[in-house]
Amino acid sequence: MTDQNRYGSIKGPYNQKSIRQRLEALFLDNLGKIVTHEMIVKVATDPETGKEPENWHQRISELRTDLGYTILTNRDRRDLKVSEYMLLTADRRDIASKRVKPTPHTWKAVLKRANDTCEWREGGIACGLKEGAIDPVGGGTVRLTPDHMTPHSIHPNSDPGNPDVWQALCGRHQVIKKNFWDSMTGKLNVQAILQAASAREKQEAFNFLLGYLSSSGEIEIVTILQSLSDSEKREALDFLRDFFDEG
Ligand SMILES: [Zn+2]
Repeated sequence: MTDQNRYGSIKGPYNQKSIRQRLEALFLDNLGKIVTHEMIVKVATDPETGKEPENWHQRISELRTDLGYTILTNRDRRDLKVSEYMLLTADRRDIASKRVKPTPHTWKAVLKRANDTCEWREGGIACGLKEGAIDPVGGGTVRLTPDHMTPHSIHPNSDPGNPDVWQALCGRHQVIKKNFWDSMTGKLNVQAILQAASAREKQEAFNFLLGYLSSSGEIEIVTILQSLSDSEKREALDFLRDFFDEG
């Protein structure tokens, strides 16, 4: 069933400086073709040091959000498997005009308030990663950058001088804020987070939810599955198999 023509290839060499530039080149060389997880890791790997990056998911998110490329996954197309991606066209969506930035003076005040640490808070607990430290999750050096707390500010022109509307965020939380934080509801976008998770992480989430919700009696997933028709059961099986196939 597998048609080799559907799959792209690494044309390279991709010696661009940043992971994002190398991945952009990979996708542009393979318009309409499937780009696999393996190809992405290979191209994202530093051509000089051979260091394999763990944060290529974030770079793909940036190709979508910062550069406006529409990169499809198996959520968008049934013929794509988990860990397969496709860029259909080199056209880019209009990206919101360049954001306002804090003045150097304002940014200095923010960093002072933040004590040079990431100010992201979840459940009352601050991230607290320090500028220049090693990120224990993503690896690499922590770099704090300014984040505007109210995305659609009424007075954007007065904001660059107002430390109160800015916060310092580490790279990981900038990505979470940009991709997974829904400013309309003030909540994390759970579906987007799960979509970006690896197959192993999805499995963990799935096991956790099954255990958690069945013991609290909120969802009897087995009961739901039992009540499905044969074709619905097959569809459910295909869906789960797709998620769990990739080790
Ligand atoms: Zn953080």
